[in-house]
Formats: sequence, structure tokens, C-alpha cells
Amino acid sequence: MTSLADRLATVRARLRPGVTLVAVSKTQPSSAIREAYQAGQRDFGENYAQEWRDKASELADLPDLVWHFIGGLQTNKVKYLVPAPRPAAVAAPAVRWVHTVDRLALAEELSRRSAARGGTTRVLLEVNVGQEASKAGCAPGEVARLAEAVMRLPGLELRGLMCIPPAEDDPRPHFARLRELRDALGLALADLSMGMSGDYPAAMEEGATLVRVGTAIFGARPRD
Ligand SMILES: *Cc1c(COP(=O)(O)O)cnc(C)c1O
Repeated sequence: MTSLADRLATVRARLRPGVTLVAVSKTQPSSAIREAYQAGQRDFGENYAQEWRDKASELADLPDLVWHFIGGLQTNKVKYLVPAPRPAAVAAPAVRWVHTVDRLALAEELSRRSAARGGTTRVLLEVNVGQEASKAGCAPGEVARLAEAVMRLPGLELRGLMCIPPAEDDPRPHFARLRELRDALGLALADLSMGMSGDYPAAMEEGATLVRVGTAIFGARPRD
């Protein structure tokens, strides 16, 4: 049996220079996140707003832990991710990145709450590269307009694009398409969030700067 620290080291050894590893800890206990943190991991990804809030408060003692929200997000759940400031009290933790912004109303709510805290949230636009009816993400043809609008919102820093290719397809052409969309925007956006346990090496070859890896680090999820 390999340990979590061993699996993490194996993934880290495969990272290209400049790529940030986001350890996807959804459904994993806080103790597993703590173990990865102790092995040097700092960026963690979560998918469910209330689950994230509970874990973030359990792990609030860990300095410089960076939270990425990578799940589907309803506008009414933004309040958990970017809580209101509390005068004369230590503010509840907020996520640093949201990878799954796919509509203006969601970006506006993130903007409003981030600005109220006096901070900024880094955002990525999720693109439905496979044009799947059942999937979140904005259509490839809508990216430019959404990007222009999001760039103007206070409290947000638009960083790039994110995708989850269709499970049954070769992911590589989808990764390449996301990079092309990013380049076509001409907005000097640096980041591409793409690649999971099964395909992060291919994603890095196509230009990923953030890879989201769960099971290859934590093992099988308790539930999904
Ligand atoms: C769960 C999840 C991952 C990690 O998937 P693994 O196959 O466990 O590496 C990456 N990205 C998103 C959006 C996820 O929901």
C-alpha cells in the first residue's frame, strides 16, 4: 500500500514547470487534507459549497492553504464561499479561486461579495467544450462576451478558462480547443484549468497551468 505522501510525490514529480497542482479533496475527510498539507501541498479543490465551508473552518489553523472551488455553483451558494465580513471579528475563510464561472449572474454575485470583503476572487470561465446538453459551462461562442463582462466587475480577477471534456471522448482535442479559445480572446489571460487523474499529463502537453487531481492523490472517494 502506498501512502498519501507517496502518491502526492508521484504526481508532483510529473508536473511541468509552472503548473499548479490542485489536490481535489471532495468527499475526503479533513484529516486527509491535513496529511497532504503536511506533505507540502497547499492548493486544494472542493466541489460542494457547504462541505467546503465545514472543512475550511476545521482547517483554519493551516496558514497559506489556498482553496479552489471547482464544482457546479448555484448563485445562492456563493454566500458560503465568500462570506460577509464580520466587523471586529476574524473573518470566516473565503475561497481564493472559483474555476466554474459560466454565467454573468454568478460572476456578479461573486463580485458583489468579494468587493464587500475588500478582497478579490480569482475566477476562471468554465467552457462546455464538448457542447454537452447536460453539462455546465458556457458555450464556446459565448466566451468572449462573458469574458469582457467579467473583466469589468470589481472584486474579481479573471484568470483564464476551465473545462471538463466529455468522459467518453479523447480529451486531448478538447484541451487544445480550450487553449485556442484562450488565445483567441487576446486578453493576456494566463491560466488554463484542465486535466484530472486520468489525463493531466496530456493536459499539460496542451498548456494546462492548473491541473485538478483527486483520486491519484487521495485514492478512491468515499462517496461521489
Ligand atoms: C472530481 C473532480 C476532479 C478530480 O477527478 P479525479 O479523477 O479524481 O482526479 C477534477 N475536476 C473536477 C471538476 C472534479 O469534479
